[in-house]
Amino acid sequence: MADIPLSVGTTVALPKDQLDPLLSRLRDKGYRTIGPRIRDDAVVYEPIEGLADLPRGLTSVQEAGRYRIVASGNQRYFDITPGAQSWKQFFFPPRVSLLEFQKNGGWKKHSATESAPRLALVGVRPCELAAIEIQDRAFLREDFTDPIYRDRRKNAFLVAVNCLHPCGTCFCASMGTGPKASGGFDLCLTELDEVFLVEIGTDAGLEMLKGLPLKAADKADVQKAEAGLASAKERMGRTLEIGDLPDLLLKNLEHPEWQAVAARCMSCSSCTLVCPTCFCWDTQDRTSLDGAHTERQRVWDSCFNPGYSHQAGGNTRPTTRSRYRQWLTHKFGSWKEQYGVLGCVGCGRCITWCPVKIDVTEEIAALRKEEVRS
Ligand code: SF4
Ligand code: SF4
Repeated sequence: MADIPLSVGTTVALPKDQLDPLLSRLRDKGYRTIGPRIRDDAVVYEPIEGLADLPRGLTSVQEAGRYRIVASGNQRYFDITPGAQSWKQFFFPPRVSLLEFQKNGGWKKHSATESAPRLALVGVRPCELAAIEIQDRAFLREDFTDPIYRDRRKNAFLVAVNCLHPCGTCFCASMGTGPKASGGFDLCLTELDEVFLVEIGTDAGLEMLKGLPLKAADKADVQKAEAGLASAKERMGRTLEIGDLPDLLLKNLEHPEWQAVAARCMSCSSCTLVCPTCFCWDTQDRTSLDGAHTERQRVWDSCFNPGYSHQAGGNTRPTTRSRYRQWLTHKFGSWKEQYGVLGCVGCGRCITWCPVKIDVTEEIAALRKEEVRS
């Protein structure tokens, strides 16, 4: 309604069926609307047109090494908890062309020409907003800005959804990244049974709402949302004490737990690929069989790959013990000195998708239980 005052920071109520016109409007402005869908019995982030594409009435049960889609027990559209995919694929693509050479008489060089898509990401959880903010610190540094990441990031419109339905491996409350978003979005929804409460985060978000049949946020609805978020905070499947990090890790580099976990870890890299904050990459050259075309690509890499730490003089991390220790002490330790925050947002993906059920919260607890300071 036209008489509802709109400004950045205010919260209004949007009838559920008005999400479709909002997404249409985003598409009219040139955005591709991407959101959660179910494919192959898991949630994935793919193009969506509207409410009909969302996984209504579904959520996931997650435990170490276990993931199942189940009925949530109500008819909400956004009860689904994150799956293996994270939004980082849209800003930091798993494989992207950097430059190409084509032989046509002489060699001709083409720089990567793909222009950054305009993406509206719909359903970004608070922990995932925090992960994007962490990747910003890595890719948008003052001394170096990654142009691929920068262009994709600046073109994006973020519709966050506060989390009322945490799963068994979530611990965002411990990491201070959820279940309520504190910023970094254009619009943030909290889904109640009848309406979405919508917090306006930016001028761009405000513009998108203009003209939609909004209502003032009802006091009872605001209280329901607050109660739901307080309950979600209590229902996190995992907790992690972070008060003594990074010190605990960096002073226990010779703890026997590193060997114990290395005996289980397969160095498969699954944890790093699903992690929304991991940013390691490699370059690969691909040449056509006739030798007329060659391309340099950037691809995701992992500190668990033995080749990642292979340098001219040999491998600086030749064992699974050294690679697991690097992963954990970087993420929960030296990351803080490097980027000003810890590198984990408590999404739980690395626990769910570890084939041998290694759990970062248990590993840190094991170090704490019997500290062996080096
Ligand atoms: S901790 Fe688990 S997911 Fe990560 S490399 Fe080891 S076995 Fe793979
Ligand atoms: S370390 Fe694990 S829980 Fe933390 S952000 Fe990465 S995948 Fe999520």
